[in-house]
Order: sequence, then structure tokens, then C-alpha cells
Amino acid sequence: MQLTELAGIGPALADKFRALGIEQVADLLFHLPLRYEDRTRVQPFGAACEGEPLLACGQVVDSQIRYGRRRSLVVTLQDDSGLLSVRLFHFSSRQMGAFKPAAWVRVFGEVRRAGYQLEMVHPEYRVVPADQAGQAEHDTLTPVYPAVAGLSQNRIRSAVEQALRLADTLVPDLLQARFELGLHAALRLIHAPPPDQQAQVEQARSRLIREELLAHRLAMLNLRARKLQQKAAPLGDRDLLERLRQSLPFVLTGAQDRVLDEILRDMAQPSPMLRLLQGDVGAGKTAVAALAAAAALGVGLRAVLMAPTEILARQHAKTLSAWFEPLGAPVILRIGGQAGGGEPLPATGAALIVGTHALFHGEPEFGAVGLIIVDEQHRFGVDQRLGLKKLATRDDCHPHQLVMTATPIPRTLAQTFFADLDFSSIDELPPGRKPVVTVALPQSRRGEVIERLRKACAQGRQAYWVSPVIEASEWAEAAEDIHAELTAALPGLNVALVHGRLKAKDKQAVMHAFAAGQVQILVATTVIEVGVDVPNASVMVIDNAERMGLAQLHQLRGRVGRGGVASHCVLMYRPPLTDTARARLDALRHEHNGFRLAERDLELRGAGEILGTRQSGLSEFRIADPQRDAAWLGEVRELARQVFEQQPEVVGPLLVRWLPAGQKYADA
Ligand code: ADP
Ligand code: MG
Repeated sequence: MQLTELAGIGPALADKFRALGIEQVADLLFHLPLRYEDRTRVQPFGAACEGEPLLACGQVVDSQIRYGRRRSLVVTLQDDSGLLSVRLFHFSSRQMGAFKPAAWVRVFGEVRRAGYQLEMVHPEYRVVPADQAGQAEHDTLTPVYPAVAGLSQNRIRSAVEQALRLADTLVPDLLQARFELGLHAALRLIHAPPPDQQAQVEQARSRLIREELLAHRLAMLNLRARKLQQKAAPLGDRDLLERLRQSLPFVLTGAQDRVLDEILRDMAQPSPMLRLLQGDVGAGKTAVAALAAAAALGVGLRAVLMAPTEILARQHAKTLSAWFEPLGAPVILRIGGQAGGGEPLPATGAALIVGTHALFHGEPEFGAVGLIIVDEQHRFGVDQRLGLKKLATRDDCHPHQLVMTATPIPRTLAQTFFADLDFSSIDELPPGRKPVVTVALPQSRRGEVIERLRKACAQGRQAYWVSPVIEASEWAEAAEDIHAELTAALPGLNVALVHGRLKAKDKQAVMHAFAAGQVQILVATTVIEVGVDVPNASVMVIDNAERMGLAQLHQLRGRVGRGGVASHCVLMYRPPLTDTARARLDALRHEHNGFRLAERDLELRGAGEILGTRQSGLSEFRIADPQRDAAWLGEVRELARQVFEQQPEVVGPLLVRWLPAGQKYADA
């Protein structure tokens, strides 16, 4: 039902509601109050608590205009308990006239103390007949909703009240008897609670939260069930794979071996793999990906590897060419925006196609794709997973998918919200890695840091100096400033600059010179955040580290510590630090394990960002917060299992009710 079908809502107001995420009348029901005001009792003035709202009623004993710093109308009211001044700065003569001596005035507002008097400034007020003086306005608490400019509380309340009357038909209770409280009773308790029923309101709220968590869990179960019915090419031939393994310049670690086995077992099945490969920065995910790709190439299919940045795509193409080409398997770099989309594809046969995520914009024709690998995925929107798969599906045959990330998903979240994914973790670093010694220093010690860089470079080491991008416009300057500063302070050293606004060709040239050791210090934006691999770089300076997130800082730090020598990471900050910023920097100094840092990050940031919801706007939670509500997850998983088996007919409607892209999940 459309909002405009409600009394008092036209197209203009409907737009305001839309800004709150309310599209349909049913959405109003799930727009929960932030808090409540109690207008169920008329209280004596004497009961006022400073700063808290109060509903009261008194008789006018005085009304006059005062000329202080600002002209105001001050009306003095009296009840059995004492006096209250009502002060209005904006008033009309009609308003003035209404405050006749002995008239009863009901007021609702926040009370403050002005000298020895109680005062309300611009309260809501109404002159009432004497016989109604003691009567309250409502018998339920008054909800206060999240609002936007131009949409008053009264408008929202009136719309919600109308929706509540229609609730039975708008949102049928699909889960009768699954919860201790019915859906409609819960909605009434939340939008119009009787006074002093806080515990019940809480229960009602948790009823809705659990229904929402349940819907998300069902979406995942649904995806998983579909997946099992889908077809994929089984990739069982190991010949190319074994030849590649033999030719690699290192032996796989035990962890790499184990996850590769998990992956190969999945890919040998005739249904599509969807596996998340987690592994700390530097854990060696690329080699695992290459070996998985070899399984596809080995049977004459294509494998596609997508990287988040062009720099990384080029680096991958280079590494992988060196590994694959001697074995006669072509590696092809495809970069968006390049004339003709990059290197030509052979018409048929095995090929490893490497590019950025832009590879999948439009309708690319890659031929028969056996495996899609997505590298350094920090966000895990279901929508992306579905989209990718669709694009590479041919004749009902789905590609296998391997998603790689250095941002591990904590178990609690994973079990509930990624039930459609299988997980593999590389929980061991290649031998010889030393932890990166990490310090946090205030900007006042910048000189020492530069001196330390000079020494490291004198010993043949290389360094990164990274500053976060606050705003693209601000950045170029900041980067150029740092570049100029270091060039001046470090004569004889080659300092280069790379940032997002450089042409691809220039970026590539700079990265190349750095990798080749011709540049000692690379000043960079976070374009180098993910994946770049220059083992000789052993110092990472991060400017304005207080402005960056924990995951990002850990990623950046992971750029060093890849060679045999001891590495350092310097987190430069501008005091004073906020508590969270300090907690982040402390965590990073003391913790090197990406998994434990991710858990800490979850505590500091909240789950929404990790689930990738905030950015994509998809699978956004309306009222639940998976972290705050983590205690429910166990119960919800069990409930989901039951509903999925016993009431399959309600799954679709629940998804549509709770997930913005619900229809898509239902049809996936
Ligand atoms: P990430 O997991 O962050 O993507 P990379 O795949 O870039 O890590 O690997 C980091 C570095 O470790 C690379 O230089 C790679 O060649 C090297 N490497 C990977 N596996 C091994 C191994 N088993 N033994 C030694 N070095 C390895
Ligand atoms: Mg990588």
C-alpha cells in the first residue's frame, strides 16, 4: 500500500518519508521510536526534574511582556504545588490575548530552573476548560521517531497510527506461536505503549529484532539450498596444477596445502563452489588462487581473477604470467577504459583473465568460465555475489567462486550471515616472517622519523610513507607537500609519489621503479593499501593514522615485513587522540594477528561495516544490530532451521518484508 493512500500524505510528504527509508505503509510499522514522552499523567509543577519533559496544568496568575536581552512574553501559571513561568520569544497578539487571568493552561515541555523559579521555554501548550484541567492527553506513551527536516513528529505519529490500524492485513503474522508475543501485539506495544510497561516494550522490540535476524538467516539458507541445485563444471584434472606446484619458487605452507585441498575438493563437484578464503596479509593467498585457477585452465576453461585496484591487477598479471606462461597457459590482463579493453582474448581454450572489478561491468564475453576469483574483497554484499555469478553463467552452468580476503569475518557473524559461503583460513604465515615492530608517535617527532628513514635507506632498505585520503581535492596537495618535504629532507634519496589521480601509465611506472629498487621512498595514498608486494620494503610510515580504521591500518602494515629483515611501522598521529583512535593504535601496537584484530575491530566499529551493509545499502538491518544482538544469534539459527523445513511458504514473504533486496534473494 502506497503512503499517499493515507490521510494527510501527498507526494511531497511521501518524499520526506522516503528519505527515512519508508516507501510503503508497511514500512511505517518498522520505523521504531527512538524514545517516548510521557503525557499520560498531569503532574504537579513541584514534581519537575530539571531537563526532563513534564506534562502539567496551571492557572494564569500573570502575563506580561518583559524587555530583557530579548523581548519575551512571560506567563506565570500556578497549580497546587507552586508557580511555573512559561516564556515565549515568538508570539502574536492573539496568543497574548489567550492567557486571560485564571485561564487553565496545559503545558508540555522541558523544565529548567531560572533563578529561584521553574521555567519552560516555548512548551507545547493549550488553553483548556476548567473541567479538563486535570485530564491527560493520552493514555499511552507518546513515541518520538527518527525524523527529517520538514517532517514533524505529529505527521509521523499520525501516519504510524493509521498504519497500526491496518497492521493485520499489511503485515500478517507469518510466525504465529514461534515467539512468545504475536507480531501485532508487539507492534502496538512499541508504537503505543501503556505507561510503566518498559519490560514488555523491550520484549516487543526483541520480538521484532529476532524476526529480522531470522529473515537474514533464511536468506542465506535459501541461497545455499539453491546453490546445491545448480550445476557447475567439475574441475578434477590435476596435471597443470601439479606442474605449476613444482615450478613455484617456494614450497606451500601446511596451511596453504590444506586450504587448497578444501578448494579442489569443492571444485571437483558438479555444483558451484562458493568459498571464502581468509588469510592474513602476506599469508600467500595468491599462490593458492593460482593453483585453483590451474585446475580450471587444466581442462581448457577460463579462470577470471578480479583485483580491487589497477595496480594490484597489474601486479597479479605479472606474477601469474611468470608462473603460467612457461607452462604454456596464457595470462591476459584486461583493464577497463583501455582501448579495446586490453589484451585480446584467444577465441577458445584455457586462459587466466586478470582485471579489476570493472571487468564485470556491462556484459563481458569471456567464454566458458570455470572459476571466478575475487581478490581482497573487504565487503561481502550478497548482491555482489549473486551479480558476479549471473554474469559468468552459461547454459545453466555456473562458475565456481573463490573470494579472498585479509579481513576475516568473526565466527559469530559468519555462521549466521554467510551460511551460503564455505570458509577456508590460511592461519600460518610463510616461514621467515618477523612481526613488524610497531610504534605510535605524535607529529612533533616527525624529524626523528625522517632520520630513521634515512638510516634504513642507507642500509639498502625501502620505505612507504602513506597518508589517508580525506578528500580527493585535499589529497593531491597533501601528498605533494609530503613528497616535497621528504625530497628536501633526504637529499640523495629517490622519493616518488603515487596517488589515485595519476594516469594509469604513470602509476604503473612509479610502482615499477619502486619494485625495481630505483625509488627508495614511495609517498602514497591508500592506493597501495591492498596486495602490493615489494619484499625489500621494510619501513611503513602512516601519516594521520588516527583517522584510519583498524583493518585498513593492518592492511597497510602488511605491506612490510615480507622480506627477511626486521621491519618497522610508524603510526604518526596528531594529538589529542579520541578514545577510539587511541584504542585502535594500541591494538595495532600489541597485536599482529589479523584475526584477533578483526575481532577488536568489530568491537570498535560495529558489525554493519564489516558485513558491507552501510556502503551497499543492501541487506541493511532496520532494527537489529548483529553485534549488539549477538546473544540471539544461536536461538535465531535454530528457529531458522525449523521455519525453513516446516514452513517453506513463509520464507519468501519474510525476505520481502525485511530485506530491501528481498525479492532478489528469494529468486536467486
Ligand atoms: P596475500 O595473502 O597477502 O595475498 P601474497 O600472496 O601476496 O599474500 O604472498 C606474500 C608473499 O609471500 C609473496 O611474495 C609470495 O611470493 C610469498 N609466498 C607465498 N607463499 C609462500 C610460501 N609458501 N613460502 C614462501 N613464500 C611464500
Ligand atoms: Mg593478496
